[in-house]
Amino acid sequence: MALGRGLQILFTLDDGLVIETVIIPNGNRGRNTVCVSSQVGCAMNCQFCFTGRMGLRRNLTTAEIVEQAVFARRLFTSEVGSIRNVVFMGMGEPLQNIENVIRAADIMVDEQGLHFSPNKVTISTSGLVPQIKQFLRESKCALAVSLNATTDEVRNWIMPINRKYNLKLLLDTLREELRLKHKYKVLFEYVLLAGVNDSIDDAKRIIDLVKGIPCKINLLTFNPHSGSHFQPSTNEKMIEFRNTLAEGGCVVFMRPSRGDDQMAACGQLGNPGELQAPLLKVPPRFQTLLEPLV
Ligand code: SF4
Repeated sequence: MALGRGLQILFTLDDGLVIETVIIPNGNRGRNTVCVSSQVGCAMNCQFCFTGRMGLRRNLTTAEIVEQAVFARRLFTSEVGSIRNVVFMGMGEPLQNIENVIRAADIMVDEQGLHFSPNKVTISTSGLVPQIKQFLRESKCALAVSLNATTDEVRNWIMPINRKYNLKLLLDTLREELRLKHKYKVLFEYVLLAGVNDSIDDAKRIIDLVKGIPCKINLLTFNPHSGSHFQPSTNEKMIEFRNTLAEGGCVVFMRPSRGDDQMAACGQLGNPGELQAPLLKVPPRFQTLLEPLV
C-alpha cells in the first residue's frame, strides 16, 4: 500500500453520521500517526478551521474513539510500518468530551489495551481551562494547546473560546499545573496565517508568553479551504518566525504540511454541509487584508 501524503478513512456511525480519521505517514521510517476524531463536528468555531464550520452534532463514545485507532492499527502491516502515535486532532474539541476522551486514551495506553506509550498519545485542545486542569491531573497522556495568536484581540477573533478563557488565564494555568508534573512538556501548536499572526512581533511575544512553561512549539502551515478568510504564510516568513523563536530560546519545530490533501492537521476535517457556524466580524485593522478574500 502506498501511503503517499496521508490516508483518509471515513467511518459511518450507527446513527448514520460520518467521522474522519487520517493516517499521517512519517517519511520512510514507518512510524505513522493516526489522527482521531472526538466529536462529530465542533462547537468551538475557530475561524481558520473547516470542522468548526459544521457546528457540533454530537460527542463520540469511548468505543467510537478507540475504534479509530484499532482500525488504523489493523490496516497497517509491517510492510508499510506501524502506527506509533495517536493525536486527537481530528474533528472536535477533545476536552469538551473529556470523560470519553480520558477513558479512550487510558485504553490506548493500557498494556491490556493498545499499549501505546503515554507520551505518544496527544490530546489537543483549543484552551478549555477547567478541563485542561482535570486532564493534567487525571491522564498520563500528552497535551497540545492550539495557541495561534499572541494577543487577546486576535485570539478572541480567530478562536472565540479565548473570550471565555483568555491568554493570560490559559498560560498561567499551564504554568501552575505543569509545576505538579515531572518532566512534562506541553506542545503549543501555532498555525501561521498570512498578515494575521505571523509577524516578528508575534514571534517575540510568544517568547514572553511561554516563559516558565516547559514546552515545545510546533509551527503549522495553514491549509486554505472554501469559505475561509485566511491564506498561509510564505515559507520565508515561516522560517524567519521559527528563527526568531529559536534565537529567543524556544524549542521549535516546523515541518512541511502533512496530510494536507485530506485537510488534516489541526481539525480541518469534515463536511460543513448545510449547517454552517457563523464567520465572526473581522477586527477593523485586518479588514483591508482579509475582506477581499471572503
Ligand atoms: S480547530 Fe479544533 S477546536 Fe477549533 S473548531 Fe476546529 S476542531 Fe474545533
